[in-house]
Parts: sequence; C-alpha cells; structure tokens
Amino acid sequence: MHIVFIGPPGAGKGTQSVRLAKYLGVPHLSTGEMLRKVSQDKSEIGLRSAEAMLSGQLVPDELVVEIVFQRLEQDDCRSGCILDGFPRTVHQAEVLDQWLVGHKRPPAVVLVLQVDQEVILERLASRGRQDDDRETIRERLRQYDRLTRPLLDYYGKQCIGGQSALHIVEGEGTQDEVFDRIRNEVD
Ligand code: AMP
Repeated sequence: MHIVFIGPPGAGKGTQSVRLAKYLGVPHLSTGEMLRKVSQDKSEIGLRSAEAMLSGQLVPDELVVEIVFQRLEQDDCRSGCILDGFPRTVHQAEVLDQWLVGHKRPPAVVLVLQVDQEVILERLASRGRQDDDRETIRERLRQYDRLTRPLLDYYGKQCIGGQSALHIVEGEGTQDEVFDRIRNEVD
C-alpha cells in the first residue's frame, strides 16, 4: 500500500511518517530530504532546487517527479511505501495515479495532518532549519494553500473499496497522541 502524507509545513508529517514507516515495515520516502541532498550539488538541477527551497517555493514538478519515480521503481518499494511530501500539486498527484495504474499497484491512501496555523508558526519558529526563517515560512504556507490544499478535493473524490481515499487526522497534541490517531486510521 502506498500512503501519501499531506500537511502544511510544521504539521509534523516528517516525524509521523517516519514512525508509520517503521510500524508498517515499509520504506519512508521524503522528497524534502531527497531535494536537500540534490540541492548540495553544483549541477543545474542542484542549483534550481536550492534556489526554490530557500525562497519557500516548490521545486518544479519535472525535477521532483523524476527523482521520486527513480526511487519508487526500486525493489524495496514494490509492496508499498510512505510518501512524505509527495505529491504536493494536483499535477504531481495525477502523475502518481498514472504511475500506480501503469504498475498495477493499488491506489494511494492519503492521510492529511490537520493543524491550526498558530500552532504551525510556533513549531516552525523553534525548529531552526535553513528554510525556516519568517518570510520563507510565510511563503511555504502560501504555497501550501495555493498548490497543495487543492489535493484535499482531488483525493476527496477518490474512493477505494467504497471508502474515501482521504483520511483527515487531527495533528495537535503530543507526538504519541497524534501517532495513535494515525495508527487507528491505518489499522
Ligand atoms: P519538506 O521537507 O517536505 O518540508 O520539503 C522542503 C522543501 O522541499 C519544500 O519547501 C519544497 O521547496 C521542496 N519540496 C519537497 N517536496 C516537494 C514536492 N513534492 N514538490 C515540490 N517541491 C518539494
């Protein structure tokens, strides 16, 4: 099963998706981590990624898609994985759907971590990552609203075995409380 994690920056999707991957014994694929590695290269792709990430923008779809599918094609992802940070646009979701159909895999199950904007700003301010300064945070939230939030509609219309593909999980509370909610949904 492929599980997609969606949530605004600072919702805790990194931490929770790592825990879920361990719990299910499947690989954890974080596009943010992959892109942070790529952006250390002095290649054209590296420079374009670094520029987008540092300004809080999304990295262009064609770069992300290539990196993700190279990883998804590997054997350890055959029976599924946790996708942390992909898809982040409707176009990326469409490409993922086509890939899953083309590779005879079941459709993605989607978990949305829902967190209040105030809580997000507090959490991000204390995290200290290079792309966590105030203006970049604002831009990342804007990008989430504009490009990623429409995925809730997109996946909300998809059904798997008569059930919605989309599962909304309350992301406030301690890490253990949030993980218990996620585990309940997945079980
Ligand atoms: P994250 O670690 O998930 O917060 O991602 C950090 C940054 O990587 C984001 O702000 C984007 O610039 C970039 N990024 C990660 N995943 C994607 C994606 N699926 N599409 C475009 N950009 C992405």
